[in-house]
Amino acid sequence: MENKADFLRVRNLKKYFPTKKGMLHAVDDVSFNIGRGETLGLVGESGCGKSTVGRAIIRLHEPTDGTIHLDDKDVMAYRGSAELKKMRQEMQIVFQDPYSSLNPRMNTFDLIADPLRVNHIAKNEKEMEERVYDMMKTVGLEDRLAGSYPHELDGGRRQRIGIARALILEPKFIVMDEPVSALDVSIQAQILNLMDTLQDKMHLTYLFISHDLSVVRHISDRIAVMYLGKIVELTDYVSIFENPLHPYTQALLSAIPIPKYGLERHRIFLEGDVPSPIDPKEDCRFAGRCMHAMDVCRQVTPQLVEIADGHFVACHLYDNGLEAGRTILSTGKDKQKSREEKTTQEHYEEQTTEEVLVEKERKESEGELPKTDQL
Ligand code: SF4
Repeated sequence: MENKADFLRVRNLKKYFPTKKGMLHAVDDVSFNIGRGETLGLVGESGCGKSTVGRAIIRLHEPTDGTIHLDDKDVMAYRGSAELKKMRQEMQIVFQDPYSSLNPRMNTFDLIADPLRVNHIAKNEKEMEERVYDMMKTVGLEDRLAGSYPHELDGGRRQRIGIARALILEPKFIVMDEPVSALDVSIQAQILNLMDTLQDKMHLTYLFISHDLSVVRHISDRIAVMYLGKIVELTDYVSIFENPLHPYTQALLSAIPIPKYGLERHRIFLEGDVPSPIDPKEDCRFAGRCMHAMDVCRQVTPQLVEIADGHFVACHLYDNGLEAGRTILSTGKDKQKSREEKTTQEHYEEQTTEEVLVEKERKESEGELPKTDQL
């Protein structure tokens, strides 16, 4: 029987880019599955390699190493432009910035019809027209917009065209690469709802890439957190928010405001430098910023292991099991507290300095003190 979790299988995916200084490890040994009809959210800071993962899966970037299977088909086995074109009928991408990804000289109709023409899908113009207008309706674009050009439309409508272009070939899997990051918050919600509806209607599977955990949680079934080319934690969307295990995930979550009145979250301030992704050494890449770093963290790269049912983490804190890791984390709370206190103290001192300057200015203007430029 088919395992639902095996629809997309990515194993040991690597994407390195040669630079003058050495090999840049943008994606370094990344593995995960996505089930049929599931959404996996992929989050991390800008430059962590999450978009490169999406592009490598659909081979917009040729992977350096690793295997990719979609519905048991070997994605790496497709050769030449004709075969790749065929593969991309099943795997599509929606880009972040619909304005720069759409040809400004094409109107809405032609932009949506373009993938059909390129792949010689529609039998004739009549079928093409029917499919384009059907798709416009599906993504919520009125017929009257068929002749409009991208610059005449708002960001939300442009992104609807981007989604229509991805869906017109009836793919099974879609990489959503920061699809709402360039949109206003009110439009973001509309596009997220649309993607949700389309997923149910068309039985789609998504890899949803974003730097924003609060956006990802609205659409994802499971969430993977990336740091400098590696997945550091992967679990369902409830566990990632209620029981984050990796120190980096905990720091990311601490930056999200809690909407409920009366609930407090202690902000974790990361110190230290992000290491270079060029020819990285064998260690935990987060070690320079992690308050729990141990000697082993600077010598051995932690592997992503299943520490609880469906909960994967790459961190040496859990080398002796979940409870042992939690114990170390709880003793580390003192360090965290002193970091918070230090930051609060710095803020207080800044405020005090500002207050002193305001007071000095007042006294100068009221003649209680000689003006600074008169001294
Ligand atoms: S492996 Fe070590 S340095 Fe890396 S996150 Fe875990 S405790 Fe911190």
